[in-house]
Amino acid sequence: MDISIVIPLFNEAESLPELTQWIQRVMKANGFSYEILFINDGSTDGSWSVIESLAEADPAIHGVSFSRNYGKSPALNTGFRRAQGDVVITMDADLQDSPDEIPELYRMITVEGYDLVSGWKKKRYDPLSKTIPTKLFNATARKVSGIHNLHDFNCGLKAYRNAVVKHIEVYGDMHRYIPYLAKNAGYTKIGEKVVQHQARKYGTTKFGLDRFVNGYLDLGTLWFQTRFGIKPMHLFGLLGSLMFIVGFIAILVVLILKCISMGSETYHFYATKSVYFYLSLACMVMGLQFFLSGFIGELINRNSPERNNYLIAEEF
Ligand code: UDP
Ligand code: MG
Repeated sequence: MDISIVIPLFNEAESLPELTQWIQRVMKANGFSYEILFINDGSTDGSWSVIESLAEADPAIHGVSFSRNYGKSPALNTGFRRAQGDVVITMDADLQDSPDEIPELYRMITVEGYDLVSGWKKKRYDPLSKTIPTKLFNATARKVSGIHNLHDFNCGLKAYRNAVVKHIEVYGDMHRYIPYLAKNAGYTKIGEKVVQHQARKYGTTKFGLDRFVNGYLDLGTLWFQTRFGIKPMHLFGLLGSLMFIVGFIAILVVLILKCISMGSETYHFYATKSVYFYLSLACMVMGLQFFLSGFIGELINRNSPERNNYLIAEEF
């Protein structure tokens, strides 16, 4: 099978028939063998019955329906586990992404050898309240992930070599960082294609402004996991040692001043009135906290069933 199209959706009933016809048209015109995987993320608007009736007319259409709304990432992950095509394409269900991009995306993966090609909505049809924070967000994501050539991390339209989707796990809200996940799994040939973007035709957006807060928090998590996930002590041990050194210097200052004051008639030093005394207390307590966090992190790691799972590229 050439192509699997994975479509996560939450209350998009009006768009589905049009989207399906458009995809079918493009697939036939290019002679691709394909499957369409609709992942119904707990829709309450009858999307599922639309999918069921579409599937009756085309055996290439498959559906999975969640019992409630879990989010776009769980929906994508479910699609990825099931996708059989050589190239896996994800797209939003709201007709904002154009199926006409599929042949070129397919070519970039199969001929140019990309592991992942991400769409770039260079000209967007979204409100300014969304496009400006998105620019900032992408700049941060580029810096943190080290994938400098991507302008639009969160574009719903993406293409993958099949092996890539089988080796990444998208959970929570991590769909915003799939290129980063792929890079961490060793798939570094990541490209970009400028794609057409339409204004939303039916329904409304499913993400509010909290997307940006959550987006940044998730980026922090991912950065931490990537840098220190298997060696938490390397971060916490360093922080703990630094704190301890500062605390130790402060307590030395306190001791020296105390000695001076004991030998002097005129100079009186009271430890509890000195800033160094409090500094030493705070730093030593915090330093110890960091160390303990590091040790606990290491203990958790040691018991993790994932601790010796390495992605093997080839063997014989
Ligand atoms: N979506 C989903 N589960 C959710 C939220 C969204 O499956 O909890 C789907 C949604 O139906 C659409 C895609 O994810 O197919 C992108 O969502 P949306 O168009 O609302 O995002 P935007 O284009 O505003 O970024
Ligand atoms: Mg949309």
